[in-house]
Amino acid sequence: MSLVEEATRIAREFDYPAEQVQRGVSEYIRQLNEGLAKENTTLSQIPTFVTAVPNGTEKGLYLAVDLGGTNFRVCSVQLHGDTTFSLTQSKIMIPRELMASGTSKDLFLFLARQIESFLRIHHNEHFEAHLRRRLDGNHEQDLFDLGFTFSFPVRQFGINSGTLIRWTKGFNIPDAVGHDVCALLQSAIDELQLPVRVAALVNDTVGTLMARSYTSPGETGTFLGAIFGTGTNGAYVEKLDKITKLQHMKDAHYDKSTGEMIINAEWGSFDNHLSVLPSTVYDHDLDAESNNPGVQMFEKRVSGMFLGEILRRALLAIHNNPKLAIFKASETSKVSLPSDSLFYRQWGLDTSLLSQVEADTTKDYVDVKAALKDHLKIENPSNDECEAVKILVHAIGKRAARLSAVPLAAILIDAGKLDSDDVVDVGVDGSLVEFYPNFEGYMREALREVPQVGDAGNKKIRIGISKDGSGVGAALIALVASKDETLHTPHKE
Ligand code: ADP
Ligand code: MG
Repeated sequence: MSLVEEATRIAREFDYPAEQVQRGVSEYIRQLNEGLAKENTTLSQIPTFVTAVPNGTEKGLYLAVDLGGTNFRVCSVQLHGDTTFSLTQSKIMIPRELMASGTSKDLFLFLARQIESFLRIHHNEHFEAHLRRRLDGNHEQDLFDLGFTFSFPVRQFGINSGTLIRWTKGFNIPDAVGHDVCALLQSAIDELQLPVRVAALVNDTVGTLMARSYTSPGETGTFLGAIFGTGTNGAYVEKLDKITKLQHMKDAHYDKSTGEMIINAEWGSFDNHLSVLPSTVYDHDLDAESNNPGVQMFEKRVSGMFLGEILRRALLAIHNNPKLAIFKASETSKVSLPSDSLFYRQWGLDTSLLSQVEADTTKDYVDVKAALKDHLKIENPSNDECEAVKILVHAIGKRAARLSAVPLAAILIDAGKLDSDDVVDVGVDGSLVEFYPNFEGYMREALREVPQVGDAGNKKIRIGISKDGSGVGAALIALVASKDETLHTPHKE
C-alpha cells in the first residue's frame, strides 16, 4: 500500500455521512429537552438569567474581561447607542503554571493585576480620581461595571453569581470548583482596591449572541451565538415555559416579562456517552490520554484545541508503521524530522496548521511545506508526504464542520425557527470558523442534508462573524445587570 492510499484509508474513518448527521440531530433534540427539565444531564442547558437581547440603542462605558482560552483579555467598551462601539483592549497569555497547578487565589490575583495595569494605562484619570475618593471613605462612587466572561461550565444563580462545575480546555485548579467565580474575582479586585464592580457573569457564547444582536439588529434580534475556537459551545434564546427546571430554583431572580431567557447549551459535552458521535482510534486515544477523559466528547471532535492533536496522532500512526514511510529519510526521500520536533509531543501540533494546509492550492504544495517546516521543523517532504497530510487535514476539518451542523440544526428545529419565512440570525466567533477554509460551507452542506432544514431552511439561516463578542457582549450584559437595582448588594467572599 502506498502512503497516499494509507492516508486515504484513514481519512475515510473520518467520514460523517448524512444519515449519521440526522441521527445526531434527533439525539441532540432529545438531550436538549432533557437538559431543560433536569439537572446533571449531558447537555447542561444552563439558564443565564439574561432575558432579552439588545437592539443597538444601548449606551455607556463598561469594562469586560475574558478568561476562557489561550489568552486573558481586558477591555473597555464605549457603546455609542447606534449599533456601533469603540473598544480598547489588551491581551495577555496565561502562564501555564497558573492554568493547572497553582491555587485559585494565584490565578484571580493575576487577573486583578492585569485589570489594574489596564486601568492605569487606559483610564488613569478615572483610576486616580477613585483613589482620592477612597481616601475620603467614598467607596461605592463611580465604579466601573465589569462583565466577566468566564467560558467554563458554571452553575449560575443570577446574572452576577455562579459556581464553577468543572474546568475544561487544559485548565485544572481543583480548589476553584464549586466556588462563586464572581466572588473570587471581586475579592482579588478588592484586595488591590480597584474601582471595579463585577456586575455580570458572562459565557463567551452568550456574549457572542449579545454582541451580534447589538451590531446587526434584524427585526427579531439574533437567535443563536456559537463559538468554534479553542473550545466549542452555543447559546440561544429559549421560551421560559420550556425551561421547566427553573421551577425548582427557589432563589433564582430574573425578569419574566419577555417570556424568554438565553440558554447556554454547553454543547461541548453533547453525547459524552458516544451514542451517536463518530469515533476513530485517534479520537479514542486523544481522549484517554487527556486530563479529562470521558467528557467534552463533542468538543474533542470539533474545536481548535483538539483538531491538531487528532491530525498528529493519525500522522504518527503512519510514521510508526514499519511498512510505510512518512517523514522518514530513505534512498528516495531527503525528508528530515528532528527528534525535538513538536510532532513527537502531545498537543504539539497547532490547529492553525490545518488551515494553512487546507488553503494550499499550489501543485507543488508550497504552503503545506511551509506549514510543516514552521510548525514541526519538517524539511524536504516529498509530494506524496504533503499529499498524505492534505488528505488527512481535509478529512478531520470537514468532519468537524459537519459535526458543527448538528447542534445548529437541532436547536433551530426544536424552536420551530424553520416553520416561518423569517430570517434566523446566527452569530459565530472563533479562529476555526473564521480561518479554516470553507468551514461554514461544509457546515451548510450538512445542514442541507437534514430533511427538516433542507435547501429552503438553509437559505433562511443568516450566519455572520461576531467579532470581539466576548468584550462587547460582556459589556452589554454588564449594562443590563447594572440597570437592575435589586442586584446591587455588595459581594461577599
Ligand atoms: P479562544 O477560543 O481562546 O477565545 P480563538 O478563537 O482564537 O481563541 O481560538 C484559538 C484556537 O484556535 C486554538 O486552539 C488554536 O489552535 C486555533 N487556531 C488559531 N489559529 C487558527 C487558524 N488559523 N485556523 C484554525 N485554528 C486556529
Ligand atoms: Mg474566544
